Amino acid sequence: MNKRDYYEVLGVSKNADEKEIKSAFRRLAKKYHPDVSKEPDAAEKFKEAQEAYAVLSDEQKRRQYDQFGHAAFDQMNGGRGFDFSDFDFSDIFSDLFGSSFGGAFSNFAGFGGNKNSNRTRATRGSDKIMRINLDFEEAAYGCKKTINLDVYEECDECNGRGGKGEKTCPTCRGQGTITSEQNTLFGTFMTRTTCPNCKGKGKTYDSTCSKCRGTGKVKENKNIEVKIPAGVDTGTQIRLAGKGDSGTNGGPNGDLYLEFKVKNHSLFERDVNDIYLELPITITDAVLGCKKEIPTLYGNVKLSIDPGTNTGDKYRLKGKGIEDVHTGSKGNMYVVINVVIPSKLDRKQKKLFTELSETDLTTSEFKKIEEYLKKSS
Ligand SMILES: [Zn+2]
Ligand SMILES: [Zn+2]
Repeated sequence: MNKRDYYEVLGVSKNADEKEIKSAFRRLAKKYHPDVSKEPDAAEKFKEAQEAYAVLSDEQKRRQYDQFGHAAFDQMNGGRGFDFSDFDFSDIFSDLFGSSFGGAFSNFAGFGGNKNSNRTRATRGSDKIMRINLDFEEAAYGCKKTINLDVYEECDECNGRGGKGEKTCPTCRGQGTITSEQNTLFGTFMTRTTCPNCKGKGKTYDSTCSKCRGTGKVKENKNIEVKIPAGVDTGTQIRLAGKGDSGTNGGPNGDLYLEFKVKNHSLFERDVNDIYLELPITITDAVLGCKKEIPTLYGNVKLSIDPGTNTGDKYRLKGKGIEDVHTGSKGNMYVVINVVIPSKLDRKQKKLFTELSETDLTTSEFKKIEEYLKKSS
């Protein structure tokens, strides 16, 4: 493809100075901008002019171009000519099209691109989060908590309307927006903005409500009682619909999330819905077996410990764990045995242990090491 010479594209001489180049590009931009030009090949022409201007307006690139021609940039962009996509045309364009249009041409394409429309759209209020500390039992059984928060309620003075003596806004005739004309080099552009008289509501009132100052809502600080279900854990969230921040322009309220932090228990340890209890027993209870009264979340129970129980042995109490907060099915409780070896013995105990030590208490487990020692000696 034969590329046109950049100077030719802009219609300037090789000696043209910065000013001449800029004004030549301005002239072409006005003529060929695709949003305003009626010429069939406007987009191509416009692109060509942009490319030429991007190179010739940059002192260093212009020098490269003067020396090597289009070949100077062929390597850079896969032979497709100088890539001007990063070039900032904003000063020229805002100059041409008015500062409100900035440099971003695409925003300019539609008539009445309306930056103000968000201001009047009904918007949902934001969600809020509140952290709540719970005791172990409160989380396990569920509980009721009183929480203090600001609640937005419809103003009872004006029934949420914001004023008295409702009328259609005369400025916008109830539309909420007004359309204004803006004259530019290319003709007249229509811009839609929020009606300044009614702030977009489309209605005005003979008098603004003094209680809610026209918002239709009043903030009230309230204590509300919340039922917390059994089984919540640290990090569990529950949602209170509509108790977040109030919406604007008639939008719904956000939600309030309660997030829990559950305190540790002095005896029980929780693992999801299972409960663990470490049970210390004496060496004789471990050897002979015993019955022990233990606490559970659902009252005390008697647990039979088998003769020959070791440290680390686990007894499962089915269904004595915590209710799952979603399914309601209960976890288990595990009693973990800890055989405590006494570090001090009285005279009688010492005598009995000494007598006991004269008997053989070894089992098959002891053989392994004995045999190993025999072999290696
Ligand atoms: Zn209005
Ligand atoms: Zn009111």
